[in-house]
Amino acid sequence: MEEMRSGLVVRVQADYYTVQTPGDLITCRLRGKLKRGPREGDLVAIGDRVQISLQEDGSGMIEELEPRERTLSRMAPTPRGEFEQIILSNPDQVLLVFSCAEPEPRIRMLDRFLVISEEREIPAVIVANKTDLVSRRKTKALFGHYKKIGYQLLYTSAKKKRGIRRLRKTLSGKISVLVGPSGAGKSSLLNCVQPGLGLHVREVSSATSKGRHTTVVRELFPLEGGGYVADTPGLKALALWDIEREELDGYFPELRSLVADCQFSSCTHIEEPGCAVKEAVETGRVHPLRYDSYVRLWLNDEE
Ligand code: GDP
Ligand code: ZN
Repeated sequence: MEEMRSGLVVRVQADYYTVQTPGDLITCRLRGKLKRGPREGDLVAIGDRVQISLQEDGSGMIEELEPRERTLSRMAPTPRGEFEQIILSNPDQVLLVFSCAEPEPRIRMLDRFLVISEEREIPAVIVANKTDLVSRRKTKALFGHYKKIGYQLLYTSAKKKRGIRRLRKTLSGKISVLVGPSGAGKSSLLNCVQPGLGLHVREVSSATSKGRHTTVVRELFPLEGGGYVADTPGLKALALWDIEREELDGYFPELRSLVADCQFSSCTHIEEPGCAVKEAVETGRVHPLRYDSYVRLWLNDEE
């Protein structure tokens, strides 16, 4: 009988998969039966939990893929149409890293990522970095309202090493991915969390998939305190995710509870009379910038 082990896929390169098992890291290939079927997407991605059998030469064979709880993915275009390309399986959280200044935070981009994370049911943590560059008041004016909505919010400065302990604690024991515009400070923050980590977690260029074979390496990097941080996906890839606009209000937590009070059940919250959402914007219960993001997403208005 072959020895079986369960493990976590921590690296994918072409047809080779590195699996962290309780004992060691094992380089694996994929059993042929898992390759069959009509699937167009990735067969196995980083973050997948798998069952492997140990081979005589010390390598492994992936025999079973455990069901995914959630995925961070994008729609990748191919000549035969779009297919779902998994960026990371089973993320515990996504950290949305934006700087308070240099560059100025693009709040609508942040809101778009929050919608994606709601739709994918991935808990989002907002990281407001470069707090050393602006006043406390300005920082709170930019990001403070997200806390009221219910999002976890961390204020950090990689330069002044502020908020690093909380960031390290937030990452500990979890599988995380950092997302945010280039220059926001993702690699600097990771280097503060753990020396060298920011160098490893580089941006994976948007994978151009030639047929079913992608040449991109994807990797999860282990944290000293337990847990992993994934490669940073390119922003364009995530922005491609399509969301039905009729469902949009459900992905804004502070709007979700209001829509039942709108006069029309099909209310789009843009022009209709008796709209509870617009009323809440006027009374200040809903932040005007969040409403602005909602409207722009509804109109499919790119920045
Ligand atoms: P990334 O593209 O998101 O990985 O951003 P980097 O970590 O490469 O940082 C971009 C630039 O911002 C670098 O020049 C960093 O030194 C700088 N930077 C990062 N964090 C901070 C911070 O907290 N405060 C200030 N003032 N600069 C920072
Ligand atoms: Zn309405």
